[in-house]
Amino acid sequence: MRGLKRRICIVGSGTAGLQLAYALKEEFDVTVIHHRSSEQIRNGRVRSTQVHFGTTRMNENRFAMPKWDEQTLIESIHISIGDQKLFTGMLKEPALSVDQRLYFSRCMEDLAEKGVSFQLKKVVREDIEALTDEFDLIIDCTGKSGSLMSFPIEEELSPFQTPQRKCIVGYFLGIKTNTPQGIGVTVLPELGEMFEIPAITEHGPVTILFIMSIPNSDLDVFQGIRKAEEFTLKMRTTTQKFFPEIHKRIEERKFALCDEQGFLQTAVTPVIRKPYLTVKNKLVVGCGDSVFLNDPITGQGCNLSSYCAEKLYETLIECKDSAWNIQVGESYWNRTKQFVKEVTEWTNAMTLPLPEHIIQLLLQGAQSQTKANDIAEWFADPRKAYQAFFLATTI
Ligand SMILES: Cc1cc2nc3c(=O)[nH]c(=O)nc-3n(C[C@H](O)[C@H](O)[C@H](O)COP(=O)(O)OP(=O)(O)OC[C@H]3O[C@@H](n4cnc5c(N)ncnc54)[C@H](O)[C@@H]3O)c2cc1C
Repeated sequence: MRGLKRRICIVGSGTAGLQLAYALKEEFDVTVIHHRSSEQIRNGRVRSTQVHFGTTRMNENRFAMPKWDEQTLIESIHISIGDQKLFTGMLKEPALSVDQRLYFSRCMEDLAEKGVSFQLKKVVREDIEALTDEFDLIIDCTGKSGSLMSFPIEEELSPFQTPQRKCIVGYFLGIKTNTPQGIGVTVLPELGEMFEIPAITEHGPVTILFIMSIPNSDLDVFQGIRKAEEFTLKMRTTTQKFFPEIHKRIEERKFALCDEQGFLQTAVTPVIRKPYLTVKNKLVVGCGDSVFLNDPITGQGCNLSSYCAEKLYETLIECKDSAWNIQVGESYWNRTKQFVKEVTEWTNAMTLPLPEHIIQLLLQGAQSQTKANDIAEWFADPRKAYQAFFLATTI
């Protein structure tokens, strides 16, 4: 009907759902259904780490999302193999990591003030048909616990049946930051990796220590740890044994989790799905981890979610006044497919032993600042990493 805005239902209030709500709210009547309130999210457990690189931060600006204190800007990436520091690559555009508990809850409160409707409810598959009666479009943004719908698996992009890493994350106080302020990546061949990420939380700046251990390797040492104090103690001994450079920067008396809920253990089996289907002739699309779930090893989940949210927004704006049917879903997939493929194949390759030509490139990074900066850009623009890994041209 003319004059009435088309109604969109976004299920899930995470990275993808929130950016989409900001992007779509002017042109459409947007409802977000989520199963935890902003208060519960704010006071709940960390679910992830997150780094929003330049392009994601540009999208956040484009869609007028909340601004953050920039004292913890990430300007560089420090790369080490074992205890050998190779180089520090500078990012062209600084990145930022805001605790998702703070980021999500603030965005939800802001969006509600700006007229977006929120419904607190856990959606189950059986609800979808009724939702298709009520809304013109449903977007599944339920993250890695999704998908709500049986989006078809893209077999070629989904080679793994089990998680390739165990993810062990703690948000810590009492670690002196590395300089220039940046992400630390330490690769321990046959054991796993450590990512050190400066981040903003409700408690101020913290350092995230994120261990990715190869299951059953000597770094797989956090099994059975449930309590915050035990976790902190284990992190202390693990850094001492495996990551001595980080251990040296730990300030004995101040080293602690930023809050009791500031730690997490999880594991992800990556799977990529075609992000659209129809239910009762209505289009349903997926965005974010519900359809494009990668291992966190390359830290691309938020950036991929943001990229796909932007492409979905552009598709819907282009078809604003025409039917939302299977062709619209196909158009969204066509715009995202290549990027999803490149991020996914690079990420999957990073879970395997590094190929010789990549080790050579990393060693060149130790000799040349230009090469070091190019390698840092892999994380900001994963297409460059894909090129380096698979097209074997110069980076
Ligand atoms: C350990 C770990 C470390 C990571 N590190 C990084 C990193 O460094 N950099 C990076 O970019 N990415 C990282 N990621 C990935 C990143 O967190 C995700 O890719 C990103 O948050 C995906 O956004 P999303 O909106 O798809 O899902 P989420 O942000 O998970 O949001 C999903 C939302 O849906 C809600 N929901 C779920 N089911 C339902 C339901 N049935 N009904 C209603 N609501 C529902 C959830 O409560 C949640 O609010 C990491 C992930 C993990 C697990």
